[in-house]
Amino acid sequence: MSVETSGSPAEFIATRRLGPCTVTVIREGDIRWEPDVRRGDGSPVPLDLWRGVVPSADERGGASIPCNCVLIRVDDVLAVVDPCFGEATEDGPWPEYGLQRTAGREAAFRLLGIAPEHVTHVLLSHLHGDHIDGCTIVRNGERAPRYPRARYVLQRQEWEPARGSDDPLGLASRHLLAVEAHGQLDLIDGDVEIGSGLWVRHRPGESRGHAIVEVTAGAHAFFHLTDLFHFACEVEHQDWAPRGVDIVTARRSRGLVCKSVEAAHALCTFGHAGPPCFGHIERAGNGYAWRWETMPGDSQPR
Ligand SMILES: [Zn+2]
Repeated sequence: MSVETSGSPAEFIATRRLGPCTVTVIREGDIRWEPDVRRGDGSPVPLDLWRGVVPSADERGGASIPCNCVLIRVDDVLAVVDPCFGEATEDGPWPEYGLQRTAGREAAFRLLGIAPEHVTHVLLSHLHGDHIDGCTIVRNGERAPRYPRARYVLQRQEWEPARGSDDPLGLASRHLLAVEAHGQLDLIDGDVEIGSGLWVRHRPGESRGHAIVEVTAGAHAFFHLTDLFHFACEVEHQDWAPRGVDIVTARRSRGLVCKSVEAAHALCTFGHAGPPCFGHIERAGNGYAWRWETMPGDSQPR
C-alpha cells in the first residue's frame, strides 16, 4: 500500500460498526522499526524465522509499521485512543524513524464531520512518543490540549515515572504537563469504565502502566489491544516481544486478554495494525492465532 499525503480515505481510514458502537482506525503514518525481537528467555528470535512470519521485514529484520489513532463512538462518548503525531517541530524525533505521514487524523476528522470540541475522552495506552505526540497543539504561542473539552485518561503508574525523568524523547513531559496544567488529566489505577460499556484496562508489559481499551455494546465486543501485540505473529508466538518489553508481564497480560477476546468473540485491532486493520484472535492448537478480517473495499493484509 502506498502512503502519500494525498491518499484517498480508503487508504488511511477503516471503519467498523458494532451495534451502537462505531470504531474508526486512522493510519497516521508509518515509521521504520528494527524491533530486535526476543523470546521469553531473552534469546533473539532468529532472523529467518522472523522474516518467515513478517514478510515485509528486510534483511536486518526491520520493517515499516503503521501508527494508528483509533476513534471510538458509543452513545455520548467520543474517544480518541492514542492521538499519534502532532505538527512537525524542528526538534521532533521523527526524521530519525523515517516517518511518512498519511493525510492523517485531522483530514479524517474533517471527512467524518468531527471537530476537536466533540471529543469527550483521549485514552492513552502508554507514553511512547508515537502514541502521544498529537495530544496537544500550540495556540497563541501556548501549548494546550488539542481536544479542549476532553478528559485525558492515563494510568497513574505510567505518568509518574515519566513525570520524574523516564522520558527519553521528552515528549511525555512536553504534552502531559500542558494537559495537566489545563486540568484535563485524569490519572487512573487499574480498570475503569469510561461510560456506555467502554473500559480502559490496565494490561502491563509494554510498560508499567500500559492499557488496552474494550467496548461491550449489546451483543458486540471490540478490543483495541494497543501495544499488547506489535505484529500479528506475536498472537501465535506469545513469548516474542521487542527488546525492552517486560516479557513475563506481557505474556501474563496477553494470556488474560486472549481469553477474554475469545470468550466474547470480539473484533480487535492493535496499535500498529496494517490494513485491513481489524481481525480476530482464535484458538489454534494449544495457543492462539490472529485472523485478519477483510471487508469489501479494504486493502489486503500485508
Ligand atoms: Zn507503539
